[in-house]
Parts: sequence; structure tokens; C-alpha cells
Amino acid sequence: MLWPGLGMDSVGDTLQRLRETFSAGRTRPAEFRATQLEGLGRFLRDNKQLLQEALARDLRKPDFESEVSEFSMAQHEIHLALRNLRAWMKDEKVPRSLGTQLDRAFIRKEPFGLVLIIVPWNYPLNLTLVPLVGALAAGNCVVLKPSEISKNMEQVLAEVLPRYLDQSCFAMVLGGPEETGQLLEHRFDYIFFTGSPRVGRIVMTAAAKHLTPVTLELGGKNPCYVDDNCDPETVANRVAFFRYFNTGQTCVAPDYVLCSPEMQERLLPALQSTIARFFGEDPRSSPNLGRIINDKHFQRLQGLLGCGRVAIGGQSDQSDRYIAPTVLVDVQETEPVMQEEIFGPILPIVNVRSLDEAIDFINRREKPLALYAFSKSSEVVKQVLARTSSGGFCGNDGFMHVSLASLPFGGVGASGMGRYHGKFSFDTFSHHRGCLLRSQGMEKIYSIRYPPYTPRNLRMLLVAMETRSCSCTLL
Ligand code: NAD
Repeated sequence: MLWPGLGMDSVGDTLQRLRETFSAGRTRPAEFRATQLEGLGRFLRDNKQLLQEALARDLRKPDFESEVSEFSMAQHEIHLALRNLRAWMKDEKVPRSLGTQLDRAFIRKEPFGLVLIIVPWNYPLNLTLVPLVGALAAGNCVVLKPSEISKNMEQVLAEVLPRYLDQSCFAMVLGGPEETGQLLEHRFDYIFFTGSPRVGRIVMTAAAKHLTPVTLELGGKNPCYVDDNCDPETVANRVAFFRYFNTGQTCVAPDYVLCSPEMQERLLPALQSTIARFFGEDPRSSPNLGRIINDKHFQRLQGLLGCGRVAIGGQSDQSDRYIAPTVLVDVQETEPVMQEEIFGPILPIVNVRSLDEAIDFINRREKPLALYAFSKSSEVVKQVLARTSSGGFCGNDGFMHVSLASLPFGGVGASGMGRYHGKFSFDTFSHHRGCLLRSQGMEKIYSIRYPPYTPRNLRMLLVAMETRSCSCTLL
């Protein structure tokens, strides 16, 4: 296991050192937190080219996509946290009961302590920095475990990022499943994991041993319902853009389309011309299409190309891990492409006869991370929203909802637990401590709650406990 900048420190020693920093209160002042956030901002600015090259080498990610989905989102989160840090840190006053009118009742946002952040490979910069912003803004010490699979980004992060942060509150661990497994044997105060549901279970099991709270940002299959009342060209543009963005390797990508056979007939030519417009007649030579992260994922995806019937695309080349933007039709629910998260540039279309059948299809499966519904009728979109459940939802587009830091981002059920982005990140990485500060006065009045109990005292106490809104505290 490599500890950049830490020499041969053992894991335990390093965690101990971070714990001591935390116990000494070093990370608590707003100024210290702001300095770390500014460091993250400088890290992004100073190393833009290096980071962009790493993204290109790992995923052949077009600069346009890196800019939109990695740099700008991370930068925006840093600005937002810096702008609002003091407001977010403030104690939050809450309503009081009659019996606590003279007291101070508030929620204090306090850092958990030592936080572990585990990162996947598909947006290796965004999914490192965005949780890191929340954890540091909330005043925690952080151990970061980047993905070993996006190895160029892992190397840049390991070599450069620690220089921009206070070494007494931040450490990085490199490694794969085995090293992460060893790391998880240690006690953390919070674990923030982004990755697959399979590994999410491993993380949660390890966390349970220490009763460590977790956020699990997982994946799954995101349905995309396309109603008959749609403009096929617009739907094709939007679905194709979000399906093939980052070569389909996106946790919130529309995973499959549900539509009637009639809509499929209209959608296919529209998708064909959209794909040609986006990537040219030979997508392989397009600068706008990335590559599959590694051979293992390439082979998995190549296997999925055998499901149903290829309507568009279907070509692949192992030598540069290229898979053409593909649309599959006549797909059966039991085929592998409808069983596992696709995580590649393949879009199956499954036929349903009605909105009810689509909703039934969605609800028979695990709750997805995102759900999409396209219709010119707002009633139809509202029905899909009202009768299903998912981590997030977007009507008439792809994962635009993720771009809003004012919305919580996270899964539900099998797609995960917890939420982040913007203030939600700060809250996720803060313990919300319920506090009531009283004085030693008024003992005579407060003594109505003590034995010997009397019916009269009980009546008075019940009135005193009523809160204007909801919370109530014993006198
Ligand atoms: P993964 O679960 O294989 O790996 C994620 C992290 O866990 C990596 O850092 C890896 O080193 C570590 N890990 C792997 N195996 C482990 C083990 N046995 N024990 C302990 N740690 C282990 O996920 P991935 O392949 O890197 O990423 C793809 C998955 O992540 C997809 O399922 C995708 O949907 C999901 N994802 C979710 C979000 C989200 O925000 N919800 C974002 C991106 C990706």
C-alpha cells in the first residue's frame, strides 16, 4: 500500500495522526476549512492540463465532457462551499415549547471526525473532489481512496493533490480491493462510498463492525420511458447524448428505453441520424467518443452486444477498446443486458403497450438511481413521477438534475443511501447535534415534573411540553 508523502508510516499510525489532529480541534475553525477548500481550487487550476491528460489517457474523455462533468462541477462545489461555509456552520435555531421559552434550542453541525472516501473510476476527478469538498467544509479529517482502475488519474491525484492540503488532516491510500479491504478493517467515523452495489455491500458490512455510518452512492439500471406523445428527434438527441456521454460509463445514464412498438419505429431513424450527427459515419474516428476503461469491461460489454437484435451500431474493436454507439431491439427481459447495469454505449429498447405497463415494469425492479420520462403531456410525466420511486428524476431530459447543486443527489433502495452536492454534502458530513441550553434558575416552576406526581402537575406539564411546531422537551 502506498502512502504518498508519508514514507513507511503504517496505516494505523497515519489514522492515529489524523485522529490527533481532529481531537486537537485543528480542523474546526472556518478559516482552516476555507484554506483547504481554496487549496482544492488551486489544485484544479494549477494542474488542469495534467488532469485533462489523465482523463484522456484513462477514458479518452473528450475535453468538452471533462470540462462539463469533471472540472466545472468540482469548481462550482468549491465556490459554493466557500461562499456559504459560515452560514452552513451556524447553529440552527429550532421552535421551542412553552416550558423551554427561556432556553436556547438549536442544531449544531459538528464534524464526524475521521472520514473515509472511496472513489470509482468513471468520473475519477468529480467523484473525488465533490465529496472531498463536503467532508473538508464540514471540518473532518479525510482518508481518500481513489480508484486503482483509472490509473492515470490515480497517479496524478497521489502525486499532486496532497501538496495542496494540510497533511495533518488529509491522507491518501492507493490500492485495489485487497488494500481497501484492509483499510476498511480500521475504524472510521464516516464512510462515503461511490461504486457498485456489490462492493457497497462489502463496505456496509465492514462499517457495521464499528457501527460507522455510511453514504452509499451506487448504480443500477435507470429506466427511460418514452411516451407516444413525443417528438422523436428531440427525444433521440437527448437520450443519445446522455446515454453515450462518457461512452455510456455513467451511473445516471438512461440504461434502457421503454416505449411502444409504434414509438420505436419513429425513434429508430431519429436515433440513427442523431448518432451520425454526433459521431459521424465512422464513430470510431470521432474525437467526441471516448473508450471503455479496460479489457474486462470491454469484454463484458461485447458480450451484451449479443442480446436482442442490433438495430444501430454493434461494431467493436478490442485493440483500442472501442464499442460503437449501439441500439438493441427485440430485447427480452431475461437477457443479461436487462439484468445488469450496462455502463457502456449500448441502449436496449424494450416494448411496452401502455404507461401502466411501463410503470409496472419499473416497479417490479430495484429502485433505480435515476428515472427519466419523456412526454409532451405533463400529466404523463407527473404520473411516472408519482407512481414510481428512484434516487432522482428528470422529465423530458437526461441527467440534467445532477447538475443542480440545489438538489440532493443519491440513491434509494438498491441504488444507495444518503445524499450530497452543495449544502447536502455539508450536512452529510456533519453530525446534527440536538442541543438545549438552560440555566439553573426557575427550579420552583420546573419542580412540577418531579415526584410526588400529581394530576394537577401532569396537566400543567403537558401544556408546557406543547411546542408551537413539533419538537418538545421536558421542563
Ligand atoms: P467498484 O464498486 O468496483 O469500485 C469502487 C471502489 O471500491 C474502488 O475504489 C475500488 O478500489 C473499491 N473496491 C473494489 N472492490 C472492492 C472490494 N472487494 N473491497 C473493498 N473495496 C473495493 O465500482 P467501479 O467499477 O469503480 O465503478 C462503477 C460502479 O460505480 C457502477 O456500478 C456505477 O453505477 C457506480 N457509480 C455510482 C455513482 C453514484 O454517484 N451513485 C457514480 C459513479 C459510479
